Amino acid sequence: AIGFINGQWIPVEQAVLPIDERGHNFGDGVYEVIRVYQGVPFKMREHLERLLKSAEAILLKLPYTIEELEALIAEGLAKTELQEAAVYMQITRGIATRVHLFPDVPASTTMTIRPAADIPSNVREAGINVTLVEDERWKNCYIKSLNLLPNVIAKQKAKDQGFYEAVFVRDGIVLEGSSCNIFLVKDGVLITPPANRFILHGITRATLLDIASSLQIPVEEKEFGPDLLLSADEAFLTSTSMEVMPIIAVDNQPIGTGKPGEISLKLHAHYRDSYKRVGV
Ligand code: PMP
Repeated sequence: AIGFINGQWIPVEQAVLPIDERGHNFGDGVYEVIRVYQGVPFKMREHLERLLKSAEAILLKLPYTIEELEALIAEGLAKTELQEAAVYMQITRGIATRVHLFPDVPASTTMTIRPAADIPSNVREAGINVTLVEDERWKNCYIKSLNLLPNVIAKQKAKDQGFYEAVFVRDGIVLEGSSCNIFLVKDGVLITPPANRFILHGITRATLLDIASSLQIPVEEKEFGPDLLLSADEAFLTSTSMEVMPIIAVDNQPIGTGKPGEISLKLHAHYRDSYKRVGV
C-alpha cells in the first residue's frame, strides 16, 4: 500500500494531515474509488470525469487535469506493484484556518492505493438481506462528497440489525444503498432508479446498463417503491467494490426464489468478463 499527499508519495501509516484541513473540518471535498484489475484501473476515465463533475458542483477547482491524475495513479501503481488494488482519491478545499468562507489556498489532494478487499465468495454466492431506511441525506446525492455521515450511520445500524446494507427510501421511492446502486428484475425487465440528483450516478450502474443492452435484456430507468422491490423476481446492488451483489431478502422478506437470480448472476459474469478483457 502507498499514500500520496500534495505531490509526495508516503507510507499510508504516516501522519501528515495538518489540523486545519478542510476535508476533516468541514467534509469540504470530493472523492473517488477506482478498482484496479490485473494492474489496469477499470473505468478510470469515467471515475475521473465524475470527480471533475463533483468538484465543479461544489465550486472546487481540481489541482490536476484528468490526464495528470491518470499519470499519478499509474505512477503510484508502478510503485506498489499491486495487480489487484483499490485507489482512493480525495480532493479538498485545502489547508487554512477554520472559517466557513472558501480560503484562497490550493486544493489538497490525497490518495491511497491498497490491495483490493474482495467480497468473500460465500457472501456473494449466498446473496444478502438488506433493510429499507428513510433517506435523511441532502438533495445533491449525485455529488460524491466527503459528507457521508447519514450513509455511515445507516450502514452501521443495518449491520447491527443483521443486514448487509441499508437501502435509502425518500418519499416512498427506493433510491440506492448507503454505498451502492440498486437494480431489480421484474418479468424479464431490468429496472433501476433514474440517474437524478437523489442518487450517485454509479460507474458500475452505467456499466451494467451497457452490458444489459448488449445482452438484449430490456432496461428501464424509472422510479419504484418498496412494493415493486418486494415483488421483484430478482434484485441486486452494484458498486466498484461490490461489483454485482445479489439481494435475496429485503427486511427478511424473500425476493423471488430467495436465492441469487439468474439474470443477476449472468450480468455479474459479463461484468467480470468486461474487466478481464481490459486487463489483458
Ligand atoms: N451510491 C453511493 C451512495 C455510493 O457511495 C456508491 C459507491 N461509491 C455507489 C452508489 C456506486 O458507485 P460506483 O459504481 O461508481 O462505485
